[in-house]
Amino acid sequence: MARVSTLAGTRLPRRVATLSVHTSPLEQAGSGDAGGMNVYIVEVAKRLAQAGVEVEIFTRATRSGLPPTVEMAPGVLVRHVIAGPFEGLSKEELPAQMCAFTNGVLRAEASRSPGWYDLVHSHYWLSGQVGWLAKDRWGVPLVHTAHTLAKVKNRQLAAGDRPEPKSRVIGEEQVITEADRLVANTPIEARELIDLYGASPARVSVVEPGVDLDRFTPAAVGREEAARVAARRRLGLPARGYVVAFVGRIQPLKAPDILLRAAALLPPDLRDEVTFAIVGGTSGSGLDLAGLAGELGIAGMVRFLAPQDRQSLPEVYRAADVVAVPSYNESFGLVALEAQACGTPVVAAAVGGLPTSVRDGRSGLLVNGHDPAEWARALARLLRDPRRRAVLARGAIEHARQFSWNRTAAGLLAVYRDAVSGNRSQGFELATAQ
Ligand code: UDP
Repeated sequence: MARVSTLAGTRLPRRVATLSVHTSPLEQAGSGDAGGMNVYIVEVAKRLAQAGVEVEIFTRATRSGLPPTVEMAPGVLVRHVIAGPFEGLSKEELPAQMCAFTNGVLRAEASRSPGWYDLVHSHYWLSGQVGWLAKDRWGVPLVHTAHTLAKVKNRQLAAGDRPEPKSRVIGEEQVITEADRLVANTPIEARELIDLYGASPARVSVVEPGVDLDRFTPAAVGREEAARVAARRRLGLPARGYVVAFVGRIQPLKAPDILLRAAALLPPDLRDEVTFAIVGGTSGSGLDLAGLAGELGIAGMVRFLAPQDRQSLPEVYRAADVVAVPSYNESFGLVALEAQACGTPVVAAAVGGLPTSVRDGRSGLLVNGHDPAEWARALARLLRDPRRRAVLARGAIEHARQFSWNRTAAGLLAVYRDAVSGNRSQGFELATAQ
């Protein structure tokens, strides 16, 4: 039986074990396996702790010499679990280490007083496997967020990208069956959980991710151009002309190659004026973008920037006239939201969560499919139309304001409260603060 504390009239867990097996919230997002999920876990954990729910995040130790625990923020502890060699294990090799990882999680709990955790929240299917066992062992509810789903990913593969193996599909099905509550980022993901994985609608809640609206802010009204030039100078980008930015992990799923192919198809006069800033590091199989730019004869149009930390990212977005998100799939698309919060319109693929994070025609443009010619047309139209960009920029700021991590944390608290109280929703619902 879960122990709960009463906070502001609602029953909440006192302490949550958050599981993030394959990537640490302490990692810099934007390369390797660190991306939106890392940002999500950090932002939400800080806010849950502020609301009085302590969070302990279990992640695999990927370097020797890491301390067993790190206090990430008041009320948020990161626990490094030793499972397999420190370095050199890919995400695909991690299933063989799940027993060791689970052992580390159970031992950590056993060393505390009985009933230390009131709830387990697992992120990604590997963590769900661990959470499934922990939930039974501790007698507490399991809340699971998939972040990505193999069946969805396999339907929208980039050319040459490896399909997710059957073992992952089975692992996801097991977790989706066993979890007490499933958190989906968007109503579309909720439908995928129900239609493709047979999740019962009563266990599915939609909690939309957010954006740090204090950090990702637009330039002051009337100062947009000056801020753009200043940001470009600091980033080493040309002060004149247009900048189209791609921010994210360099991997086939994110399709930055489509953007370069589109760059090569821009009308010649525009080509002379546009710089494509590619921000982020290699992930998984990666992509040889420098080689591709050379082959396409556009090397002079492309600048590569290393992964940027949260302090520098607003400058990247403000430096750009347009941020492009051409992914084959995104469960939500935090980059799109961050860019809009900074007042930069987004051109995004109409897939996954992107139609939620980008309001087509209001805060940016959605492009159907991944035909580089179609992308070149969309970019050219927007770059040549400063009035349209200004209207979309205002729409982007307005749209992004609806999303905040405070709202996400409030939605999760509502799910947690229901989970520890054994409540069920009547079909999938948008979880919000009460
Ligand atoms: N990111 C970052 N530095 C970079 C590139 C990306 O911090 O150089 C962050 C970005 O701000 C966003 C996250 O990584 O919060 C990527 O999330 P998104 O949902 O766009 O994609 P995912 O990585 O989840 O596929």
